[in-house]
Amino acid sequence: MIKSCDFLIIGGGIIGLTVANELILRGFSNIAIIEKEDELGKHASGRNSGVLHAGIYYSPDSLKAKYCMQGNNLLTEFCKNNKLNLHKCGKVIVADSKEKLKGLEELKKRADKNGVEARFIDPKELWEIEPHAYTLEKAIYSPKTAVFDPLEILKALNKKIKTKEDCSISLNTAFISITNNSEVLTNHGKIKYKFLINAAGNYAEKIAHKFKIGLNYKSIPFLGTYTELSEQSSHLVNGNIYPVPDARNPFLGVHFTKGIDGKVYIGPTAIPVFGRESYSLFENLSSESLSFLYRDVLMLLKSAPFRSNAISEVKKYFGKYLYQECKKLIPDLKKEDILASNKAGIRAQLVDWDKKELVMDFVVEKKENSVHILNAVSPAFSSSMSFAKYVVDQVV
Ligand SMILES: Cc1cc2nc3c(=O)[nH]c(=O)nc-3n(C[C@H](O)[C@H](O)[C@H](O)COP(=O)(O)OP(=O)(O)OC[C@H]3O[C@@H](n4cnc5c(N)ncnc54)[C@H](O)[C@@H]3O)c2cc1C
Repeated sequence: MIKSCDFLIIGGGIIGLTVANELILRGFSNIAIIEKEDELGKHASGRNSGVLHAGIYYSPDSLKAKYCMQGNNLLTEFCKNNKLNLHKCGKVIVADSKEKLKGLEELKKRADKNGVEARFIDPKELWEIEPHAYTLEKAIYSPKTAVFDPLEILKALNKKIKTKEDCSISLNTAFISITNNSEVLTNHGKIKYKFLINAAGNYAEKIAHKFKIGLNYKSIPFLGTYTELSEQSSHLVNGNIYPVPDARNPFLGVHFTKGIDGKVYIGPTAIPVFGRESYSLFENLSSESLSFLYRDVLMLLKSAPFRSNAISEVKKYFGKYLYQECKKLIPDLKKEDILASNKAGIRAQLVDWDKKELVMDFVVEKKENSVHILNAVSPAFSSSMSFAKYVVDQVV
C-alpha cells in the first residue's frame, strides 16, 4: 500500500486515467491513483454510450466546446496508435417538425462557431447514410462522430500507467477524509501527497465539499437507461441517429447508436434517482437518498427546464411513448423491434444551488494544492484527452 506520492488522483475513471497519462507525458512521476472499486469502469466511464462526440452542441465559450473537438482528434489517434476499436460511422441529426428545423439551424451555427465539421444534407443524402431515418427537408451530418469501446480504452490507459515506474493504480482503495492539507485517510490507511486531483465522478462534489470547495454546487444523479433493437432489426441503423435536443437541458434526447459490438442501443434516458449508484430506481439507496429527494422536489418547483425534462423523461418509462419518440426518427420501426436492456449509467449532474440551475459546462475548481473536477458529464469521455491537458495546466 502506498504511503506517499507527489500526485494523488482519486478515481480511476477516464478523467483520473487521462490526467495521470498527461502528467506522465509531461515527464512527471510518483503518481498514485486510488479507485474504490475492485476493477476499472464500474461507473460512468464503463457504462456510457461509447459515442466519440465531435463537439457540435456546446456553447462556443464553454470548456466542452473547447475540449471536445480536440479530444475527438486525440482519442482517435490514441485508438489508432494502440490498435483499439474505433468505428468511424458518423452521425446524423434529424428534425421532424418546423420547430425542430429551427433548432437544427441553431445547431449548425454552433458547429460553425466551434469549428466542428458538420454539414446540412437533404433527405436523399440522409437515406444514403441512414436509409431508414426520417427528416423534414434537411438533416445535419457529422462525419467525425465515431463509436468506441470505453472499457478497451480504460484498459489500454491502465496498462500504460502501470508500466511507468513510480506510478500505481490501487483498486479497492477509497478516499474517506482529509486529515490535513497534504494527507488523506483511505480504507487502507493514510497517504501523503504534494498535489491532489479529485476525479471521483459521481462523488466528486461530495469530496470537494470536504475540502470546502464548490459549496454552491450540489449534484443530482440522473439515471440513463437504454433499450436495444432486436438482432433482426439492427440493420435499421448504420451509425448514430440523433434528434434535435432541448437546448435548455444538457441531455441529448433519445437516440440510436450502433455500438462497436454491432448492437443498436436506444437511449439513454435522464431520470433523477435517489442514489449515486442507483442503476435501477430503488437500488443502492443510502442515507443520502432523502437529500436527493429534497433536491429533486426543490428543482421541480423552482426550475422550469428541470420540470419539463422530468416530465418528458418519466414518460419514456412507458413503452408506448418511447416507441412514438423512436418512430419519429425511424418510421419503419415496429414496437416488437424494441427490447429491454440491462445497460444503464448515471450522470452526476451538477446544479448551481444558488440559482437552482443545471450547470451546462465542466467545472474545475482549484484551491491550494488540490484540484476538483466537477460535472464531468457527457461529452467528458470524448473530451478527456484534451481536457486532461487543461486540468494538468491547473496542477503544474
Ligand atoms: C448513460 C451515460 C452515457 C454517456 N455517453 C457518453 C458518450 O457517448 N460519449 C461521451 O463522451 N461521454 C458519455 N458519457 C459521459 C462519460 O461517460 C462521463 O462523463 C465520464 O465517464 C466521466 O468520467 P469520470 O472519470 O469523471 O467518472 P467515473 O467513470 O464515474 O469515474 C470516477 C471513479 O471514481 C471512483 N470513486 C468515487 N469515489 C471514490 C472514492 N471515495 N475513493 C476512490 N475512488 C472513488 C469511482 O468508483 C469511479 O470509478 C455518458 C455518461 C452516461 C452516464
